[in-house]
Amino acid sequence: MTRTPSIVDRIGAAGGRIPFSVEFSPPRDADAEARLWRAVREFERMGPAFVSMTYGAGGSTRDRTVRVTGDLAEETTLLPVAHLTAVGHSVDELRAMCGAYADRGISNILVLRGDPPGDPLGDWVKHPEGVEYAEELVRLVRDMGDFHVGVASFPEGHYRAPDLDHDTKYLVSKLRAGAEYSITQMFFDVDDYLRLRDRVARFDAEQGAKPIIPEIMPITSLRSARRSLELSGSKLPARLEERLTKAAGDGPEENRAAVREAGIEVATELAERLISEGAPCLHFITLNFARATREVLTNLGLASHAA
Ligand SMILES: Cc1cc2nc3c(=O)[nH]c(=O)nc-3n(C[C@H](O)[C@H](O)[C@H](O)COP(=O)(O)OP(=O)(O)OC[C@H]3O[C@@H](n4cnc5c(N)ncnc54)[C@H](O)[C@@H]3O)c2cc1C
Repeated sequence: MTRTPSIVDRIGAAGGRIPFSVEFSPPRDADAEARLWRAVREFERMGPAFVSMTYGAGGSTRDRTVRVTGDLAEETTLLPVAHLTAVGHSVDELRAMCGAYADRGISNILVLRGDPPGDPLGDWVKHPEGVEYAEELVRLVRDMGDFHVGVASFPEGHYRAPDLDHDTKYLVSKLRAGAEYSITQMFFDVDDYLRLRDRVARFDAEQGAKPIIPEIMPITSLRSARRSLELSGSKLPARLEERLTKAAGDGPEENRAAVREAGIEVATELAERLISEGAPCLHFITLNFARATREVLTNLGLASHAA
């Protein structure tokens, strides 16, 4: 395997200003792929510390994820992180996926359990020859060789965890199993992020020293934001809900321009507070568009390399 920098090394080497990173999703068709590549080239000029590529629900985008992430590794200057989920896969298939990533020069993997296909909030059913929790997949990937592994963390607690103490315990188990950092679920209350950081540090100081990278979703449409929130189990605090609803107006169609403007402001304010609280990196959900993230980075004075 071609050895590439780890995410922890990459964000640690960022120097004076806070690094940022972005999340892409596998494109559905040729048009979407062309749009993804426009965003990729634009981000390439802005210098993200890394870029991540999601893994479709139930492994539905498996081949495309490997192909496009491999292309990112081979045809750009970006450092890709491949998401890998356990859902619907046997251990042999999971090993084969890691092998396919390694063949394309990818050594950074974000290990996830994934959600049930169809209804993400439905009952989780383990593959008969698969793994039950992400922690086991962390061990499996680490045992395969030279991979650097990250995991998911949840500032508001994962919706299937009985309480925040259990949620913290399971996150720490993934870190102890060999994950080097975590990336959070999107959130809109920085205090939730700070409390997660404190909980992990209290539970295990050594694991608490590992980076917890906050994920930010710049809202550009209230309708799609509500859908993402529903699927992720995250909440929009009442004051933000009110601010965005006011921007949307009470016409039959939401006022997209006003929602967008408010959404960019909200993401900027969130990022500013995270920077002042010492977050190690800012990870943006992009939906394969560069514009919203570029605007937030510009507001933060972090897009000086942008074209
Ligand atoms: C940054 C990020 C990126 C994501 N990318 C993707 C993606 O690309 N594709 C996709 O399909 N999904 C993705 N997801 C969603 C993720 O797969 C779901 O949130 C999933 O429900 C949880 O995954 P996990 O890896 O945290 O699971 P786990 O850590 O296995 O946790 C799952 C549940 O089990 C509980 N648990 C863990 N260990 C134990 C144990 N030993 N005993 C009892 N309970 C336990 C946890 O508290 C939690 O409730 C992403 C999430 C985040 C935050």
